[in-house]
Amino acid sequence: MTTVHCPRCETLVEWAPHNKFRPFCSERCKLMDFGAWANEEYRVEGSSAHDEPLPNVDEA
Ligand SMILES: [Zn+2]
Repeated sequence: MTTVHCPRCETLVEWAPHNKFRPFCSERCKLMDFGAWANEEYRVEGSSAHDEPLPNVDEA
């Protein structure tokens, strides 16, 4: 049988039609990976926020 390593936790998982979470070992790893993706997407989208000037309190 064909096996792959879960991209999330590197558990050896069988690559089979009945394994709907492949290439992940479990739904948890699949969701975690998707969550990481979503976070990255969110971070990139919000990255323009760093252009906002910070309050200048040098001469306070
Ligand atoms: Zn896993």
